[in-house]
Parts: sequence; C-alpha cells; structure tokens
Amino acid sequence: MENQTKQIRKPSTLSDRAAPAEDPAVTAEVERLLTLRTRDIRFRGEINRLYQARIWPQTAKIIRAWMIWVAILGVITLALNMLLLPPAVSLSMIMPNAVIPPIAIAVALVWQRPRPPWLQGSLLIAGMFLILLAVALVGVRAGGEFYERSLNIMLFVAITAIIIFGIPLAWTVTIAALALSLYLFLQLANPALELGSAVAATLFFATGIFATVVARRNMTLLAQKTFLFGLRDRRRVTELADVNDRLERLARLDPLTGLANRRWMEESLSHVWGDGHRRRDRIAMLMCDIDEFKKLNDHLGHAEGDRCLVEVARIIQQNVRSNADHVARYGGEEFLVLLPGMSEEEALFVAERIRESVEAAGFPNPTSRVSRFITLSIGVAVLGPAGEALSPEQLQRNADAALYVAKQSGRNRVVAYRPASPDLRTAHTA
Ligand code: GH3
Ligand code: MG
Ligand code: MG
Repeated sequence: MENQTKQIRKPSTLSDRAAPAEDPAVTAEVERLLTLRTRDIRFRGEINRLYQARIWPQTAKIIRAWMIWVAILGVITLALNMLLLPPAVSLSMIMPNAVIPPIAIAVALVWQRPRPPWLQGSLLIAGMFLILLAVALVGVRAGGEFYERSLNIMLFVAITAIIIFGIPLAWTVTIAALALSLYLFLQLANPALELGSAVAATLFFATGIFATVVARRNMTLLAQKTFLFGLRDRRRVTELADVNDRLERLARLDPLTGLANRRWMEESLSHVWGDGHRRRDRIAMLMCDIDEFKKLNDHLGHAEGDRCLVEVARIIQQNVRSNADHVARYGGEEFLVLLPGMSEEEALFVAERIRESVEAAGFPNPTSRVSRFITLSIGVAVLGPAGEALSPEQLQRNADAALYVAKQSGRNRVVAYRPASPDLRTAHTA
C-alpha cells in the first residue's frame, strides 16, 4: 500500500511545456522592445539567442537552397561556355568557373547544422567572397565584352543573397561591402574603362546595393516584431492557463485538508463509475465519520478540531492506494473513499485498517462517550462485479445507511451494507 492518495489529476496545460517566454527578464525585454518604434528594435542577449534559434532552420534552409542553385548554375554555365564560346575564351573561363560548385556545396554543408555563430558567419562570408570573386574572374580572365558582364553578374548574385539571406545585419553589410569592393577594384583594373567611369559605375551600383540592404533590414525588423508578438502571446496564454489551473484547483480542493472536496469527488465518482461499468468492475465506497467530533470542538476548541481533521485526512490517505483510490472531505467531519475494483472483503479490510490507525493515533477527545481518543465509524458499500443496476447516488446512500448502523450500534466500527437485512454485518466491534 502506498502512502499518498491520488488527489489531483492535474490537467495538462500549456504551462507544462518549457516556455522561455516565462523568464521575467525576457518578458520585460519583450515589453520594452514592443514600446519602441519598429526601426529602433535591437535584439540582444537572451532574446537574440531565442530569435536566432527560432529562425535558424529557415535561414539555413534558404542558404543551402541558394548554394545548391549556385552550384547547379555554375555547372550549367561551364557547359554552355564550352559549347558555345570559342575555345580560347572558354578555356580561360574554366578555372574560376570550376571552383564555384565546390565552394557553394561546402557552404551548404557547413549550414547543415548549427555551429557557433562566429564560425557560421565567417564561413558564409568567406564562401560568398570566393563565389563572387570566381564569378567575376570568369569574365575578367576572358576579357573584352565578358569583363564587365561578369562583374554585373557578380553584383546580381550578391543582391539575391543580400535580399533572401535572413542573417544578422553586420553579415549582410559585410557581403555587400565585399561585392562592391570587388566591383570597384576590378573595374579600376579594367583596361577598357576610364577611372571616372569605373567610379561612377561603382557609385551607381552602390546605391542599388544600399537599397537592398535597407530592404533586407526592414524585412528582418518586421520578422523580429512578429517574433516579439509571438512571445507575448505565448506568455499570456501560459498565464491564463496557470490562472485557470489555480482556479480549477481551488474549486476542487478542500483548503483545510488539501483533499478533494465534495464537488471533485462527484466528478471522480462519475468517472470511476463509467470506467467500472465498461469493464464490469467492482467499486467499493467507504463513508467515514469522526465520532463525537462536536464534543472535541466544544471541549478543546475549533483549532484543535481542525488539526484533528487534517490528521485523520492524512491517516486515511496513508491507508489507500495512491494511484487508484480517491479520498475526499465530503462534509464537516465526513470523508468519502472510493476504492475502484475492490471486493467487499478487501474494502472491509482497508476500512478496518483506517479505523484502527485513527484509534491508534490517540488524538484526545476527552469527553467522547466512545473512547478518550478520536475514533472513526465507517460504512462500506460495494457495487457487485455483475454490474448491478445501481447509481452512484444509490451506492452512496447504501454507504450512508451502513454508517448510520455503525453509529447506532456504538460507533468506532466498520459496518458493511446489507440490503433489507435486519442483521447488518459488523466487521468490528469496539
Ligand atoms: P457523531 O458521532 O454522531 O458523528 O457525532 P458528531 O459530534 O461527530 O456529529 P455532529 O454532526 O453532531 O457534529 C459534527 C461537528 O463537526 C459539528 C461541527 O462543529 C464540526 N465541524 C464541522 N466542520 C468543521 C471544521 O471544519 N472544523 C472543525 N473544527 N469542526 C467542524
Ligand atoms: Mg457527521
Ligand atoms: Mg461525527
């Protein structure tokens, strides 16, 4: 027999799940950030960590997909150039073109799983630089019309990455700066271009790239704001669920003994009843009532009476199965115990053990006519295995009737219900 009674079948709620949104520091930071204008939102510390963890799978997927496409386009370009361009030109393009697919695939592999942010960022930026350099060199080495074309393609490649990679702003800016520097440097080295023309073209593209970086930053800020609203909603739902939990517990528990109250017992009863009927199981019920409790209150005071109620509740709980039985404080000094699956013989055994334990505990009740100590009378009723057409109320009435007989026949005893039988069986006589 285990020591504690099944008291509370805790409903599973959102609060059971680990929710970082419940961290008070995070909560305060979320509220602070939501008071700011969107463009002033800056993620730091824990919020930043949570945000990165949330968006990582999506960002990584986009980066991997982009890299795979760059690798595929690299191979296609190589093949088309070999097929369509004069051998002298296409041969000069092979070397830079051939390194694009392996670099892109290497970056995609790096982004297969999370790594330290500095490593992930450095490898992405290094990979991007090598890809952009290779794209540019394809035309630079071929020269002529291909020179400037490949630089434009390089910028186009950089812009697509800037727009679709949801990475920290510093990384985006680094990639943009690398692309523009490459462009400027190689245009300055372009034999077909004057200095002024090279600078003018670079400035022109710089404004375009700047606009894409700003667009990227706005997209990130909006995503971050949505993330903050999500955290706030989750916290509010969790708080509501907690309050609900508490209210539900308050509505179901007896505050003095911590046992289920009558209302909860009635719910449990209909639950157990449904299960028992389905499986055609027995259900036993004990109605326990402290003897001469009024005298204890009158003589030793209400506080002592309360203490005694708590102790009796504890003793009852100790004598039933924690994972199967239900104990409730049913009235002032009345306790109802539900013993699913128990035969009358087993229920009488449990009842007798409870009665003996209460008596043995020796709580004083000096003016009781039964004993100098607190005693308990218990009525036992059982629903037969054949699933008799009894209602829970009828079973309760039977247990009450047995308790009445226990009281009538001297108290401090266990009596089993006998229908319409003059000799109600007494399991214990004090
Ligand atoms: P019997 O042996 O016939 O059961 O006699 P009794 O005195 O136990 O029964 P009765 O119904 O006359 O008295 C029950 C008393 O229980 C009356 C009331 O003062 C007391 N009581 C009910 N609820 C509480 C409670 O929460 N705390 C305390 N201290 N006493 C309570
Ligand atoms: Mg009573
Ligand atoms: Mg009583």
